[in-house]
Amino acid sequence: MNQQTAQTIWQSTLVALHGKVQRPSFDTWLRDTTGLSVDDSTLYVGAPNAFAVEWLEKRIYGVIEETVEASTGKALEIRFQVAQNGPLAIAFQSPAQVSPTHAVASSLLPTHDGVGLNPRFNFENFVVGKSNELAQAAARAVAREPGRTFNPLVIYSGVGLGKTHLVHAIGHVATACGMNVLYGTAERFTNEFIQSIQRGQTEDFRQKYRQVDVLLIDDIQFIAGKGQSQEAFFHTFNELHTANRQIVLTSDRPPKALTLMDDRLRSRFEGGLLVDIKTPELETRMAILNSKLEALGTYMPPDVLEFIARRVYKNVRELEGSLNRVLAYADLMSRPITAEMASQVLADILLETRRHAVPTEQVMTTVAAFYNIDLETLTGRRRDKHTAMARQVAMYLLKEASQRSFSEIGRLLGGRDHTTVIHGCSKVVQGMEGDSQLRADILAIQERLQQ
Ligand code: ADP
Ligand code: MG
Repeated sequence: MNQQTAQTIWQSTLVALHGKVQRPSFDTWLRDTTGLSVDDSTLYVGAPNAFAVEWLEKRIYGVIEETVEASTGKALEIRFQVAQNGPLAIAFQSPAQVSPTHAVASSLLPTHDGVGLNPRFNFENFVVGKSNELAQAAARAVAREPGRTFNPLVIYSGVGLGKTHLVHAIGHVATACGMNVLYGTAERFTNEFIQSIQRGQTEDFRQKYRQVDVLLIDDIQFIAGKGQSQEAFFHTFNELHTANRQIVLTSDRPPKALTLMDDRLRSRFEGGLLVDIKTPELETRMAILNSKLEALGTYMPPDVLEFIARRVYKNVRELEGSLNRVLAYADLMSRPITAEMASQVLADILLETRRHAVPTEQVMTTVAAFYNIDLETLTGRRRDKHTAMARQVAMYLLKEASQRSFSEIGRLLGGRDHTTVIHGCSKVVQGMEGDSQLRADILAIQERLQQ
């Protein structure tokens, strides 16, 4: 049996599990799982991280097994494995929106009923801050009056900053207003187009797009340099645009930087409204974490929340990932959530990607040498600005580079209290946001440590 079958089985299992598993658990552990493949005896299911795999195996294996058996009529073994970035097309739909038999939604099906749109991505739970307010306002305007204000709307940013979220949000509003909405990635567009050629159905392909009131195409950069697909998209674009149908596109870079994109297309994009999303500031990151916690119905002490938010993140996805890991860990180990624990859990993750952990003495001597002080000064009592800075950097790097607890680091640095170390680490994390010199220094030290 193929992947499609696995997706169908798992999708209907999810629909059934939705009623059996408590909502926060469902949202945390099940929502982002996908059916990977299935053979005669085993159904393989992808989960976003190792915690999810562990939780699913330990906590609800029995229920899942029963549910799969009930829907397939077969006793299958379920194997969970880490599989990141499952395709959006099979993002979970709430039972009201999807019947098990049609559970696997092609993301390029018309979405009168919201199929193909992730219910989690809506305007209500999109946290607005300086970094994204323009994009959000433009998205709302377009959702309110499709085809009338900004056409096309092009939202661009680095990964994980909320483009897809906003595009789905537009889709929900337009769908609710009875519009014919089509959502898909540019990759899907390309695949469908190629298929339509192979099957001699290019006219069907064309017709499908002509009926659309709102066309949402995610990650348009994908078609850059793909001659025929660009051509097809150019025609689709023109037909819809001329008919005042709304087009919304996202891109991982500004249209100007889409160097392989056909000039005609690029100038079409630039004729609309271009808005970017930047990396969220600390305040917005805190607000995002808070809103995720609320959605999960979970609590976390404010200092831990701040600790997570203060780490330097490139994007919201990583931020969410950290939050989930901390929650997962606390749940699995039945441990209270503290800043210390959070830092351990998150440091482990950093370590996983690092080949060698650097010995603590080496971190300390390297930092001391970099700041031109000796080791005794670093671990001693002097409190002048320069020494204090070096010491805080040492705390930070010790934390990043080893699995040591705050208390152990305090001990290594001349018998300091763990709260001093927590303070030191967050000073550095905080400092790195605005202080490019500090960032450069830390990078330089890290480079020396890697050698
Ligand atoms: P992109 O498409 O830009 O790569 P996504 O839209 O997939 O990013 O966002 C990544 C994750 O971050 C999603 O889970 C999304 O809900 C979340 N996210 C991004 N920005 C926000 C925000 N402002 N408020 C709430 N969640 C957000
Ligand atoms: Mg995206």
